Amino acid sequence: MNDKAATLIRKVEEAESQGLYDEAQAAREKLLVISLESHDIESIDLVDYLAKEQITIRGVEAAEKSEWFYSRLNLLAEERLGPDSITTAHVKRKLGKVFYIQSRVQDAISMVEAARSVFAARLGKNDNHTIEAVLTLMSWHGESRTLESQIFLDWVCREYPVCEHLQPLEKHLKSLGLNLKHDLSYHGRVRIWVDAWLDLGAIQNRLKPSPSVKQEVRDDIRDGSFRGFACSVHEHEIEGRYDQNPEWPNVR
Ligand SMILES: [Zn+2]
Repeated sequence: MNDKAATLIRKVEEAESQGLYDEAQAAREKLLVISLESHDIESIDLVDYLAKEQITIRGVEAAEKSEWFYSRLNLLAEERLGPDSITTAHVKRKLGKVFYIQSRVQDAISMVEAARSVFAARLGKNDNHTIEAVLTLMSWHGESRTLESQIFLDWVCREYPVCEHLQPLEKHLKSLGLNLKHDLSYHGRVRIWVDAWLDLGAIQNRLKPSPSVKQEVRDDIRDGSFRGFACSVHEHEIEGRYDQNPEWPNVR
């Protein structure tokens, strides 16, 4: 980060501590221009940090100011770097989060979706920036339960399928009419949760999965308790309940 940026950051912090919010905002905006022109994500993150502080200290009103700030940044980024720039996508992701704080869920979703599609096109669908955007969208769509949300969640299952080694088991579970919860983690790893107790030995005999598929039984305070199968090549997993109970089915 250059000296000019460092001076501006000090200015923002000083102004903020004295309650001179307009002055702080003006310094932030200058900082933005420098950050954008240097393509320096690190300083954009710092600006983001300063804006977040503002949100915490000053509540919803601050979120609105922060919207002004990120909308302006978004326009600047689109104008100077273009809508397909990764930096612009980062800005959109942050603006989306501000919309979400304001309960503008639809606006939030469209912003982060725009960011996701740039990340996917430029960095690949399994890049962690892309995955992070998908995870954010999954959590927001998961809350809203509209038709559009269902369409998105179905899209995630198609775009990020469980690896070919675990697909026969997924198919088997689906054929029993069980509800599967499809989760995603970094590098595009898939974890499927099924609300059932899996008889690992019986399933092993029935499906004879590839040697890369190993039985997993974990009873751990930190990682949780489950029984299931994991693929050692792709690090994808299918997990069921740890305990047997009449409330959920046994799968053989
Ligand atoms: Zn696999």
